[in-house]
Amino acid sequence: MSSGHPTYLWWNGRQVRWEEATVHVTELGWSTVGAVFEGIRAYWNEEAGEAYVFRLREHLERLSRSMKLVRLEQKHSIDELTAAILQLLRDNDCREDTYINPVAYRGAGPRSFSGFSSDSQMFIATRPMPSHLLTGKTVKARVSSWRRISDDVMPPRVKNISNYRNSQLASMEAALDGYDVAILLNTQGKVAEGPGACLMLVRDGKLITPDLTSSILESITRDALIQLARDELGLVVEERTVDRTELYIADEVFLCGTAAEITPIVEIDHYQVGEGTIGPITRRLEQLFHDVLRGKDPRRAEWRTPVGLAQLARA
Ligand SMILES: *Cc1c(COP(=O)(O)O)cnc(C)c1O
Repeated sequence: MSSGHPTYLWWNGRQVRWEEATVHVTELGWSTVGAVFEGIRAYWNEEAGEAYVFRLREHLERLSRSMKLVRLEQKHSIDELTAAILQLLRDNDCREDTYINPVAYRGAGPRSFSGFSSDSQMFIATRPMPSHLLTGKTVKARVSSWRRISDDVMPPRVKNISNYRNSQLASMEAALDGYDVAILLNTQGKVAEGPGACLMLVRDGKLITPDLTSSILESITRDALIQLARDELGLVVEERTVDRTELYIADEVFLCGTAAEITPIVEIDHYQVGEGTIGPITRRLEQLFHDVLRGKDPRRAEWRTPVGLAQLARA
C-alpha cells in the first residue's frame, strides 16, 4: 500500500500499476449496466504470517456463472484468475484482512445499449477490509417498502451490477429513516434478504433461511454457515419460505455474506429480536466461522487458499 491504494491491480490478463489503469470518461454509463462482479475476502492470520482466501474457487465459479448469464465472453480460466489473485495479493503485500473485487464488463464505449456490441474485459482490485467478527457489532433493521428484484425481471442469484440499484434504494430508505440496514421482501411478500447479504433466523433452536428460489443471491457464506451449523454444531437447518412476521418473533436474526460476515440484527421495525443482544446460537456460529476463516481452527482446510506470504517471508 502506498498513498491510500495498492500498488497493482490486474487488468485484462496483466498486472498493471494502479495509476496506469484508466479508461476514457465516455466509457462510463452503459458499460457498467452489463457488468458483473465478485466480492471475495482474504483473512490474515498473524501467528502463521499468512493470509487465507476464503472459498476462492467457489467465488470464481460463481463469477463464471454470472458472466455466462449476462453473455459476457470468458477469456480467462478459473486457474488463471486464481493465480492472478494470489500474485496480486503477494505483490500488494496484503498482510491484513483484504477485500478482492473482480469486475467483468463490456468495454467499447458509450453506445453499447444492446449489450452485444462490445468486448469482454475484466479487472481485479484489492483493498483493506477489516473484519468485524467478534467485535460485538449489531444493527437495527427495517423491512423495506422496496421489493427485491424477481427472477422474471433481473437475475437476483448472481452479482449483476445493475441489481444493486434496487439494493441502493432500499439502503437509502433505511438510512433516511434512521435504521442501519434494510430487509427486502420478494414480490411474493416473503422474506428475501438484505441489500447485499443473506438472512438467517433462529426459532426454537433451529436455523432457518430463505431458500434459493426466494429471490436471493446464491451466497457462498450462506452455504458455508449451513454446513457449519449442520455438521459442526449439530443444528437443524431449514431452507424454506420465510414469512415477514417470523422476523418479529424470531429468537435471533442475522445477516450473512462476504462483506456482512455475520451481522446480528437486534431490532426489526421496532420489535426487539430475542433479548436485544447477540443470541447464543449466533455467537457460537460467529466464533466457529471466525476461527475457520482465519485458519485458527483446522477444520474445512479446503475452504482456505494460502496466499503464499509466509513462504515469501521465509525466502
Ligand atoms: C454478495 C451478496 C450476498 C452474499 O453472498 P456471499 O457469496 O456470501 O458473499 C448476498 N446478497 C447479495 C445481494 C449479494 O450481493
